[in-house]
Amino acid sequence: MFEALADRLQGIVRNLTGQARITPENIRESLREVRRALLEADVQVGVARDFVARVEARAVGEEVLKSLSAGQQVVSIVKDELEHLLGRTPVTLAGSPHVPTVVLLAGLQGSGKTTFAGKLAVWLKARTKRVLLASADIYRPAAVDQLERVAEQAGAGFWRAPEGVLPVEIARGALEQARTRGFDFLVFDTAGRLQIDEPMMAELVALKQAVRAHQVLLVVDGMTGQEAVRIGETFARQVGVDGLVLSKMDGDARGGAALSLRQVTGKPILFLGVGEKLDGLEAFDPSRLAGRILGMGDIVGLVEKARSAVNEQEAAQLAEKLRRSDFTLEDFLEQLLQVKKMGPLEDLMKMLPGIPKAALEQARPDNGRLKRHEAILLSMTRKERRAPRVIDGSRRRRIAAGSGTAVSDVNQLLRDFEQARTMMKRLKQGPRGLAGLRRGRG
Ligand code: GDP
Ligand code: MG
Repeated sequence: MFEALADRLQGIVRNLTGQARITPENIRESLREVRRALLEADVQVGVARDFVARVEARAVGEEVLKSLSAGQQVVSIVKDELEHLLGRTPVTLAGSPHVPTVVLLAGLQGSGKTTFAGKLAVWLKARTKRVLLASADIYRPAAVDQLERVAEQAGAGFWRAPEGVLPVEIARGALEQARTRGFDFLVFDTAGRLQIDEPMMAELVALKQAVRAHQVLLVVDGMTGQEAVRIGETFARQVGVDGLVLSKMDGDARGGAALSLRQVTGKPILFLGVGEKLDGLEAFDPSRLAGRILGMGDIVGLVEKARSAVNEQEAAQLAEKLRRSDFTLEDFLEQLLQVKKMGPLEDLMKMLPGIPKAALEQARPDNGRLKRHEAILLSMTRKERRAPRVIDGSRRRRIAAGSGTAVSDVNQLLRDFEQARTMMKRLKQGPRGLAGLRRGRG
């Protein structure tokens, strides 16, 4: 999701944060690239233009330029504006004080309404709500059967109108069922068309009334591109929409729809569909998504994960050692063990801010190597780990034999250690050191 856009923007971010001096010209040049990246991701032209104008107005100010971390400040403005574009705060599906809460699903044919009905039922069920699913799609023979299967998978209630009943009557019947059978939510699926047309819109308006919808959710196929904006606008104007759902965001959707729709319709995005199965649903969180797009990392997630794995005292001690620069193999071993506790290295690295994608690929965890490293480190004496310089040829042979590895593996470990030590030194130097590191790698 958003991969191409994320790649482009992360390149721009690295460029900005790596520069020693930022001038209004560099900023304008970077922002021109940002605009191009947005357009390539199918963000609507007007939305992209306004976005860049807002960032520029804030970024070219004196305070930003005078500060030492100008590049980083510009990046944080971009992130802030991206969050603004996406809706700033997460919005969740509001239950109505009158039971049942009625949710009407609208959208073109194939946009993912029926699938989303099931996903929403699963999501609500996890929040201890009882959900009834019903459908007004009488035009395609298999549509109601599909919803019935989905309801069964979701463990939700299902109601089917008798043969020959028209959509508006189905809506009344479904509401009646949900009321008398004590459901908390009625999720009402509707028929789409391949294109927007008058009869569909008229039917939706009638259904909205008949079923007394509290929330009309528009389901839009995230792969639609530019067209999504027109669809969103039309539904919002003609039917009235309370929230948006973007489906198929697991595919190679370029993401522009998500970035434009919120702005153009003024309606919040509530969910992203990220898979065909019923668990493929994500509640939409603008701030996390903006961070992910800019490669700034899911710091919240990282901190949560690290906190649970690493004893805080150990972490503080390690930080202190780093500060004093006596990072030894002993610390390397400790790190290795902590990494093991934290789970897959790759997941963890993805959450770290500012790690270029190329470096991520390079660092794709080699679990075999990690295991060998551990064995080798454990075959060393404590003295060797504390003062790696003493490890000469004969010690290398002994360590290799003791750990069941080859001397070349021991050499590899010592090289990896040297690299880690260099990285630690750079980290201590702050952004400048890191920028050097990135250039060195990229
Ligand atoms: P409807 O016509 O609006 O009811 O759309 P459906 O729910 O029948 O979905 C149309 C197609 O899109 C089906 O093949 C679904 O499996 C697929 N689909 C729906 N949502 C998602 C999603 O989030 N990701 C992926 N990959 N496929 C989806
Ligand atoms: Mg359907």
